[in-house]
Amino acid sequence: MANKTTAFAFQKRDPDIQAELDAFRIFLKRKGHRITRERKAIAEAVLLNREHFDVDELFLHLKLKVKAGISKASIYRTIPILIESGILAAVYLENGHMHYERVFGRDHHSHLRCGACGRIFEFNVPELDIMEKNIAAEKNFKSEGYKFEIWGLCTYCRDD
Ligand SMILES: [Zn+2]
Ligand SMILES: [Zn+2]
Repeated sequence: MANKTTAFAFQKRDPDIQAELDAFRIFLKRKGHRITRERKAIAEAVLLNREHFDVDELFLHLKLKVKAGISKASIYRTIPILIESGILAAVYLENGHMHYERVFGRDHHSHLRCGACGRIFEFNVPELDIMEKNIAAEKNFKSEGYKFEIWGLCTYCRDD
């Protein structure tokens, strides 16, 4: 078994989400969406989250940890609003479930995804950003982002 590597692990830091919640509130108002207790609780959970998650995980977190009793339907309705507001992004599909992560206040990054244990490793190489710009410019395309994903087996799931 290889040594545990943290090279691509997410940097944890103390979350202060008040400014972000205020920005979300302003966004909702501007778009004519109602500011409900459910939307606030979902936004809060997403902003405090430092992992990649799917709807089931968010639902269970809200139910068991936050005790907020929010329906899955509410979550499904709120996710597109969170994406539109720039708080959340859909990052990859696994077993037919879309996984999301908080992107607000974070630099763009790419993912390595282990098919055996499901671990996600993040990395950032400036060359990819340069490629994105060059390809878009060459095709006269206005890019709004890109995804680069490597899948395979992580160091915990191999014996070599
Ligand atoms: Zn693995
Ligand atoms: Zn990520």
